[in-house]
Amino acid sequence: MDDDRRRRTPRTDAVLADPSVAAAAARLGRGRVKEAVVACLEACRAGEVAPEDVVAHVLAMLPTTAASMRRVVNATGVVVHTNLGRAPLSQAAVDAVAVAAGATDVELDLPTGRRGRRGAAALAALAARVPDAGGVHVVNNGAAALVLAACALASGGRRIVIARGELVEIGDGFRIPELLQSVGAELREVGTTNRVHPADYADAIDDRTAFVLKVHPSNFRVEGFTSSVAVRPLAELCRERGVPLVVDIGSGLLAPHRRLPDEPDATTVLRAGADLVTASGDKLLGGPQAGLLLGDASLVERLRRHPIARALRVDKLTLAALEATLVGPAPPVAAALATRPEELLDRARRLALAIGPDLATAVHSDGRVGGGGAPGVPLPSAAVALPASLAEPLRLGALPVVGHVSDGRLLLDLLAVPADLDDELADAVRRVAGVARPGHTA
Ligand SMILES: *Cc1c(COP(=O)(O)O)cnc(C)c1O
Repeated sequence: MDDDRRRRTPRTDAVLADPSVAAAAARLGRGRVKEAVVACLEACRAGEVAPEDVVAHVLAMLPTTAASMRRVVNATGVVVHTNLGRAPLSQAAVDAVAVAAGATDVELDLPTGRRGRRGAAALAALAARVPDAGGVHVVNNGAAALVLAACALASGGRRIVIARGELVEIGDGFRIPELLQSVGAELREVGTTNRVHPADYADAIDDRTAFVLKVHPSNFRVEGFTSSVAVRPLAELCRERGVPLVVDIGSGLLAPHRRLPDEPDATTVLRAGADLVTASGDKLLGGPQAGLLLGDASLVERLRRHPIARALRVDKLTLAALEATLVGPAPPVAAALATRPEELLDRARRLALAIGPDLATAVHSDGRVGGGGAPGVPLPSAAVALPASLAEPLRLGALPVVGHVSDGRLLLDLLAVPADLDDELADAVRRVAGVARPGHTA
């Protein structure tokens, strides 16, 4: 060990007392900053960091916030990407969350000073967007909405009638039939994997039936010799037999979407006669993680009053983000679905030029809605094609960029990348590829 180096290494306390390091400690917590200082001083003693560079190195090692989740550029071409947190919130929703994070009137009526209905404005905003729903309620996620329906309507040996072809695995090994059974509901399966007919439902409905459940196959498609029963005839049958029809549409579209004609939406399904619709808030609606329940007013009220509803209650941050999503400007998911492919190709060309034509080319690509719905429906998009060897360094860069490798190339698909991120994206690529900015010397 070099004694001189050891002598010249600053003391931990001295580095922690540096004003910029102290400011970081105030923002991120002293423990975390001290760990970085200790690690950096070790590197200094080993001769890897010059003593005068210690502070700058500590600051570079620190995260921007006290939480470890990083901002990531979703260049996968998948609009609602489960591993990237599904729907990104709109700026309006982010602002609303920041305000709600403090003490807030989520459950207080300010004019009277009395207790108010929790999240009344968010619920009103949801009801206003779906006038066909007599009642609305919001829980933690789509799965919680189904659990609430099962607990409130299908306890005590009552059965849920469901088609075999709709026994869906949602993801990460979780399955809707097991979810329903886990809270004590019994299932009465009808039909086969590929086909179910109105008569199958008619034969299965009896005095033990709690409700008929129709689940949208949002993450797979069955092709070939298939048939299912549409909402309208199923609703007619349910009405005749006096049992409610619950439809899990999954994606959370509130009204039909021009680009996703096969995707069910709450308004159409309610008009076709469903008594209750359940959906997620963070798929095609583009809001926070939430479970939406929309439908018959007395049915929704029964669910809302069930004891388990308290355990599925949403946070104030969710209510704030949901309201802002519903009444504010179009969230990123809606914006992505509205972008024209030619616009995306223009952006890809400009990006390829900015990165360097020897490294990058603009190409047509196929985007996807993703786990959120419309399985198998390609969305025409455009991408910047790069050498596949850049995939890992881009993921590990200062601003992580996640693309996808196809045919030996890395594609950075622009469908889910907001246009105002293009400059940062070009910088991120140039940084990892070691390319100087055009017009600048390295
Ligand atoms: C996504 C999905 C669910 C689960 O919703 P979460 O919000 O992830 O709990 C349930 N049913 C369908 C049809 C879905 O697409």
